[in-house]
Amino acid sequence: MSRPFLVPTGELFRRRGERHRVTLAGPLRGLALSTSRLADGDVVADLVLEAQGDTVTVSGTVAGDWTGECRRCLEPTGGRVVVEVSEVFEPDAVEGETYPLGTDTIDLEPALREALALALPVAPLCDEACAGPDPGAHPVTTAADDEVDDGIGGESNGDGRPAGDPRWGALDALRFDT
Ligand SMILES: [Zn+2]
Repeated sequence: MSRPFLVPTGELFRRRGERHRVTLAGPLRGLALSTSRLADGDVVADLVLEAQGDTVTVSGTVAGDWTGECRRCLEPTGGRVVVEVSEVFEPDAVEGETYPLGTDTIDLEPALREALALALPVAPLCDEACAGPDPGAHPVTTAADDEVDDGIGGESNGDGRPAGDPRWGALDALRFDT
C-alpha cells in the first residue's frame, strides 16, 4: 500500500534549521462530516518541513475536493477546501497538541486528515441563493424523509452531532401538496 504522506526525516535532521519544501498528493479515504465528504480524487499538500532539536514543524496548506448534498434543495453539490496546516511532530507526542514522529519517518496523514475533516462544510449549500426544492421537480419521497430522520434521531447519532438540529426542523415543516 502506498503511503503518499509518509516522509523520510533523515535529511531533515542532517540539516536542522533548514526549510524543506515538499508537495505530496494522494487519496485520503473515508473522510466525512454530516452530509459532506471528501471526494475520491487526490488531496494535495504543499508543505514546508523543518527540524529543530528532535522535533519537526510542518506548515503549509492541504487542499481537496468535497461532495455533499445541498441542505436546502438536497441536490448533489461540492467544492474545494484549502486548509492551513501548522503542526509540531515530536517523538513523545502530546495528545491534542502535537503529532508523533517516527524513528526515521514522519507520517503526515493524521494531521492532514484532521485539518481537512474540520474544514468540510457541516451544512452545504449548492448556492447561497438556493431557494430550496422545486415542488414540481421534486415530489416528496420517502428517501428524502429517511435522510431527514438521520439528522434528528437523538439516539442514533454516534458521531457527536447535536440532536435536533433546527435546520432539519425547518425541512420537517416543509410539506408539498401533490
Ligand atoms: Zn440547493
